[in-house]
Amino acid sequence: MLKTLHVELLSHTPDAENVIFAAFRQCYASGFVMDTVVQPLKDGKISPEERDQFLRDVLQMGHESPLEHVSFTFAIEGISRACSHQLVRHRLASYSQQSQRYCSEGQDLDYILPPSIAQIREAKELYETFMQQAGETYARLHELLQEHGRHRESSNEDARFVLPNAAETKLISTFNARSLLNFFQLRCCTRAQWEIRALAHRMLHLVKEVSPTLFQKAGPKCEKMGMCFESPKFSCGRKPLYQRPEKSS
Ligand SMILES: Cc1cc2nc3c(=O)[nH]c(=O)nc-3n(C[C@H](O)[C@H](O)[C@H](O)COP(=O)(O)OP(=O)(O)OC[C@H]3O[C@@H](n4cnc5c(N)ncnc54)[C@H](O)[C@@H]3O)c2cc1C
Repeated sequence: MLKTLHVELLSHTPDAENVIFAAFRQCYASGFVMDTVVQPLKDGKISPEERDQFLRDVLQMGHESPLEHVSFTFAIEGISRACSHQLVRHRLASYSQQSQRYCSEGQDLDYILPPSIAQIREAKELYETFMQQAGETYARLHELLQEHGRHRESSNEDARFVLPNAAETKLISTFNARSLLNFFQLRCCTRAQWEIRALAHRMLHLVKEVSPTLFQKAGPKCEKMGMCFESPKFSCGRKPLYQRPEKSS
């Protein structure tokens, strides 16, 4: 069955921007942050505008460790195994992914259809036929393995070898804000593959709703830097190219 992207923000650190603000301020204040920041925020002696301006200023600098104190947890379904493989390369995040050992696929395989293939009738037919065959082969292997004494779980384990990269997966992922900003820089860029880019943009939309100042300038690296660091061949052309210094001979 055809599946499409679905992402929810399952949980996040409450008052994430206050926590980051307090962490930054503790670095530069001789007093204790509970007295110099947390209570004044509660009493309205530090306004949200003042906090936001401070955050915008420090986010431009390279001092990023305070961003590690807050985290965002996403529930994700409707992505391919090709996409999840790219996602889990982001080592500074946590993942709990649906297991292909403990969960059986049905004969009607759940899969993702790339838009480029969906647009070409013949390619789409070929793709869908292959998905059906993959599902049927999986189901038959599953049966044969069980007939020959393997129990259900270990049948999943080996029958899954015929599942394609297109097979749909579901997972829960938690990023701290620093790692998430790095993820957005890399995966919101047009250089990134379309599926993980769509996922990244959806995640960005969700976190902007809860922490707008923190993620105001989040997105591809060019948003923050004002220039593109890709080679001319790969640049989308939206921002001027970074001019690399001439190599001295
Ligand atoms: C357009 C694009 C194309 C890609 N193509 C390929 C490809 O062809 N083949 C391939 O294998 N991968 C490819 N990747 C994956 C890429 O190499 C990274 O593995 C992935 O983007 C995760 O990024 P990250 O390491 O910054 O993230 P994280 O693993 O979350 O790390 C975050 C940051 O922590 C630091 N860090 C983490 N671990 C270490 C460490 N061990 N040592 C030092 N610093 C560390 C780094 O500063 C890093 O940026 C591609 C990624 C993109 C965006």
